[in-house]
Amino acid sequence: QVFNFSSGPAMLPAEVLRRAEQELVNWRGLGTSVMEISHRSKEFIDMADESERDLRELLSIPDNYKVLFAHGGGRAQFAAVPLNLLGASRSADYIDGGYWAHSAIDEAKKYCDPRVIDIKTRIDGLRGLKPMSEWDLSPDSTYVHYCPNETIDGVAIDEMPAFADRTVVADYSSTLLSRPIDVSRYGVIYAGAQKNIGPAGLTLIIVREDLIGSARQELPSILDYQVLAKHDSMFNTPPTFAWYLSGLVFKWLLAQGGLVEMGKRNQAKADYLYNAIDQSDFYRNDVAPANRSRMNVPFLLADETLNALFLEESLAAGLHALKGHRVVGGMRASIYNAMPLAGVQALVDFMQDFARRHG
Ligand code: PLP
Repeated sequence: QVFNFSSGPAMLPAEVLRRAEQELVNWRGLGTSVMEISHRSKEFIDMADESERDLRELLSIPDNYKVLFAHGGGRAQFAAVPLNLLGASRSADYIDGGYWAHSAIDEAKKYCDPRVIDIKTRIDGLRGLKPMSEWDLSPDSTYVHYCPNETIDGVAIDEMPAFADRTVVADYSSTLLSRPIDVSRYGVIYAGAQKNIGPAGLTLIIVREDLIGSARQELPSILDYQVLAKHDSMFNTPPTFAWYLSGLVFKWLLAQGGLVEMGKRNQAKADYLYNAIDQSDFYRNDVAPANRSRMNVPFLLADETLNALFLEESLAAGLHALKGHRVVGGMRASIYNAMPLAGVQALVDFMQDFARRHG
């Protein structure tokens, strides 16, 4: 059996893939694939409506928020957010906690003067992030942008924002749907689908209605929240297959018991892996416990010359895509919703066996 620890595009639930396989050439009895029909057909629109209802139920999305199903991934939103929200203003606070937050800042510089608040810190010699109470926000910024889960750095901010009179924007690309969150704390939440949600190509945007409508003139229509909302996310042809498959994932999540249950499972998986790493002299994770990501677990081998052998042997054992990102080095296990506890147990068994043989 193969367990895929890719950071994204990532593993999808086996049940979802089986169902998609069954329906591939004959969807809803139409005698054709969902990929081959018009997004304006009744069947597709029914599916789209159903997927939105399911997503709203999963995340308890309040009625005064629009859900948009868009193209472009997380990076398109790095531009879309300032262009949709800033109007005539040029001031926004950007929290820098890692690679992706920093990438959002680089893009935002094209459209405004982001005030960068670096929250990276050392806690007992480990990589950590300052808590929200220590974020030095400016008094007059139009919004505050942050990334709650840094996919590459393996650091996370689990606190829910509680800043009075602030519009908070969050890049939830690698953690949306992994546990319950309070959507009402946010102005905009966005996420590329290819980690916890579905295939690459679809981007989810959850935006409070009063923030829609102040876009800058030069904003491309396909990124304009008002245009997307007005056309029920079908201003241009949406990524239909990715949308359909994500809809199946929403149904799978509801059948598992929703996000409370997923949160428990994800915590149990992460605890299992971090405990194994902490108890070993052979492996280490250098993130402060309060900021450890439950989705992306980077770890280093004490003897880095064994990295290539570790990757070769783990692949042969059916444990795929464990190579860490070049920025952090070492290994990284991404353990999103679709990764069962059995996959994490298989990884830990392998790691312990490898350590015994090479330690
Ligand atoms: N934000 C985060 C947290 C990510 O992990 C990624 C990709 O891994 C991105 C943004 C960029 O997403 P995309 O490749 O969909 O543009």
